[in-house]
Amino acid sequence: MKSLLRSQVTTVLAFLAATLGLLPAAQAKKFNVVTATTDLASLAQEVGGDRINVESIAKGYQDPHFVEAKPSFLLKLRNADLLIVVGLQLEIGWLPPLITQSGNPRIQVSANGYLDASQFAEILEIPQGQITRAMGDVHPLGNPHYWLDPDNGRRIARGIAQKLGEMDPSDAEYFQQRFQDFDRRLTDTDKNWKAEMAPYYGRKIVTYHNSWPNFAKHFGLQVVGYVEPRPGIPPTPGHTLELIQFMKRASVKIIVVEPYFDLKTPNSIAAATGGKVLVLLPSTGGEKQVTDYFKLFDYDMNLLVQIFKAFP
Ligand SMILES: [Zn+2]
Repeated sequence: MKSLLRSQVTTVLAFLAATLGLLPAAQAKKFNVVTATTDLASLAQEVGGDRINVESIAKGYQDPHFVEAKPSFLLKLRNADLLIVVGLQLEIGWLPPLITQSGNPRIQVSANGYLDASQFAEILEIPQGQITRAMGDVHPLGNPHYWLDPDNGRRIARGIAQKLGEMDPSDAEYFQQRFQDFDRRLTDTDKNWKAEMAPYYGRKIVTYHNSWPNFAKHFGLQVVGYVEPRPGIPPTPGHTLELIQFMKRASVKIIVVEPYFDLKTPNSIAAATGGKVLVLLPSTGGEKQVTDYFKLFDYDMNLLVQIFKAFP
């Protein structure tokens, strides 16, 4: 009798504590989502809401091809329920050994908690025929910078919402609703972005690395040359000279550079062509104020419009 009373008291206390927020309610169990890059983290956060914890391994200002492994990455991966990667070998130089070393069976490449976001996206520049080293080092499966097209952002978010819903069917509707909301906001905002860019349709730019084909396609720009002679290969004097001559002939003035590349060669090209170097961000978090996927496009669009006005 005494113990029954005690258990009733315990139940009542637990109920009160949960109601008052002193104890976590049962449904407060959150998925630990780890992403290779910040853009995937932002998209996962959009659809995962308060049901997930999400962290990116790479920082937004780092070159996602070359990320220096740190012990803290292993800790993140060890606790992950879901790992989302860009794929297409973008992370091949640093992520595979970390996945193995994490010893986390949930996120191994063939496991249920491993999600390759490239399967949802439109992929450009998929090589036809035989692939050789001469084609460059870093894009042998097609261009992995596909998140820079808002339509791909939408496709990736839909894929992540679907995946989270499969992992936790009781919250599937929540994830779907969050995706619908994101989809609406992205569609509205993208209309504004496209309207801002419309006057500059067809404008030609040179970029340092081949990071921008999806971005260029979506917003109607033409990437007509690269500072790198091939993806992942540093500039050479011969290639730089050819590029300068080509830019002069074609009156191309704008050289877009990702924030992690040395500006020496781009600056010399700008000096020789009367052009201008523009540092654009390929990822969320590339600058402090660029805290999510929307702000990434806001930031880049604003700089592009300014420079197109200055260089008609
Ligand atoms: Zn690349």
